[in-house]
Amino acid sequence: MKGLPAETDFVVMGAGIAGLRAAIALAEAGRVLVLAKRETPNFKASDPKSDLAWLGDEDEIILHVQDTLDAGDGLSKAAAVKILVEEGAERIDELLAWSKGHGTKLRFEPENTRSRSRMLHTQGESTPREVLRILLEKAQSLKNIPIASFTFTTDLVCEAGRVSGISVLDDKGVPQEIACSAVLLATGGMGQLYRNTTNLETATADGVALAVRAGAEVSDMEFVQFHPTTLYMKKVPRFLLPERLRAEGALLRNIELNRFMAKYHPLGERAPRDLVSRAIVHEMEISLAKDPVVYLDVTHLNAAKVQRRFSRVYAGCMAHNLDITEDLIPVRPAAHYSVGGVRTDLNAKTNVAGLYAAGEVAATGVHGANRLASNSLLEDLVFGARGGKSMCAAEKPASRSTRQPKAAYSNGPVEPGMEELIGQIQDLMWNEVGIVRTRTGMQKAVKTLEEMAPKVAHPKTRRGYEASHLRLAASLVARSALAREESRGAHYRIDNPDHDDRKFLKHSIVRGDKVVFLP
Ligand SMILES: Cc1cc2nc3c(=O)[nH]c(=O)nc-3n(C[C@H](O)[C@H](O)[C@H](O)COP(=O)(O)OP(=O)(O)OC[C@H]3O[C@@H](n4cnc5c(N)ncnc54)[C@H](O)[C@@H]3O)c2cc1C
Repeated sequence: MKGLPAETDFVVMGAGIAGLRAAIALAEAGRVLVLAKRETPNFKASDPKSDLAWLGDEDEIILHVQDTLDAGDGLSKAAAVKILVEEGAERIDELLAWSKGHGTKLRFEPENTRSRSRMLHTQGESTPREVLRILLEKAQSLKNIPIASFTFTTDLVCEAGRVSGISVLDDKGVPQEIACSAVLLATGGMGQLYRNTTNLETATADGVALAVRAGAEVSDMEFVQFHPTTLYMKKVPRFLLPERLRAEGALLRNIELNRFMAKYHPLGERAPRDLVSRAIVHEMEISLAKDPVVYLDVTHLNAAKVQRRFSRVYAGCMAHNLDITEDLIPVRPAAHYSVGGVRTDLNAKTNVAGLYAAGEVAATGVHGANRLASNSLLEDLVFGARGGKSMCAAEKPASRSTRQPKAAYSNGPVEPGMEELIGQIQDLMWNEVGIVRTRTGMQKAVKTLEEMAPKVAHPKTRRGYEASHLRLAASLVARSALAREESRGAHYRIDNPDHDDRKFLKHSIVRGDKVVFLP
């Protein structure tokens, strides 16, 4: 699009699946400006080099609900899960209808012959890419939805207690304010809080930080899901090695090439993913290696079958000269999904008037203390659509003021010290608020993050803002994790390894200086 408008009806911050789905729902109510801080759509590292199932749509609704509740470890909100599963089917049907006549390869296929579950796959293509393509085409077919790429939101503008606009740096780094009736955050996750992550470099927790600064509550921030096995090679993105590899016989070996999973769980390599992640962390620790890894081993499996069944993993590794049919695959766990985020009701509304959130940035309560694999995309579609619809009804302010931007920012050069600071945050979070947590580690993280605050108090560039957002979000995760004195779902602490239902069968909510726990 040419130039940004000074005002619009609605802003959707994020051009991923949640944001585009919300924009499509909103288009009938007025002008919708969709923003992306990078190119649109943005695939790159988020485009998994594997045959990942992307949408979970169980034939048996009851089974899907039960699996989601089980994964949530007591904290999933039943009403949200019901909506996810019931409306999920409608959203998928609609997606398939929109793609008709456009030669889509999106198909339902049984995940395996023993399971009754169905997954949406794309033959020979990346499924997320295909879903985004369909949504983008649909959005572009509607008038009213301009998409501004490379536009970085730096702030939410609030007037009289409600969100009335946003501040951005445009694609040239020039600051501008855009007035609007309501904003929906769909800014994705915050994997960049951690040294090792499967997330894109854009996952810098911007939405969480903007919302908190505007007075929104965040919930369940301590629950960060880690994937146990991602490729670990220098200067290579941490792409996922799917759990199906272990289900089909892949073995885990420590640095001395010994199998170790039997020590940790009777199911060995097929143990639940959190447990596998913790076992790997322990093995890496006791190896005392400077740059520890463990190995995933498929060399004993039939090579032709591996190449066929895991064609994308095979090709992805070959691209880095690693032939998995002959070589061991170096792996590490990596931060994968942010369960918590900006607290919303079932219509994506936050506690701040005019502010909505959907997708990975939001905490709807669907995932409880841990996410069931494949549910997040469904959540993006369902709650993106719900958010869009409820925003349509949002009251429009009588007058909109366009103020002068506060300061002159720029795209570059990067403020000195910001990359280093981000690296420090990532190491701190990886070591002290990662897969295995301790009270002293989390206390150290909270204190260190507090001390870093002045260094990012006045950001001037995009990277400076990202550093500031990461610091704030890291502090919210660390404080929530410290406050939850038990282990549950994706949150595991050595000093409190068990559940404490009496005190903590509740959601954490950060309110100012306090972390409170509410049902
Ligand atoms: C490798 C990998 C594999 C996965 N596999 C699965 C799977 O099999 N099934 C499943 O259900 N889920 C899976 N997930 C999770 C799922 O991909 C994400 O939860 C989902 O894509 C998040 O979508 P979203 O719309 O919330 O955000 P995103 O798709 O992350 O989009 C965020 C958008 O916000 C924009 N943005 C961010 N900050 C700003 C800012 N300050 N200003 C302007 N714009 C901004 C970005 O540019 C981007 O357009 C996987 C994730 C990864 C990383």
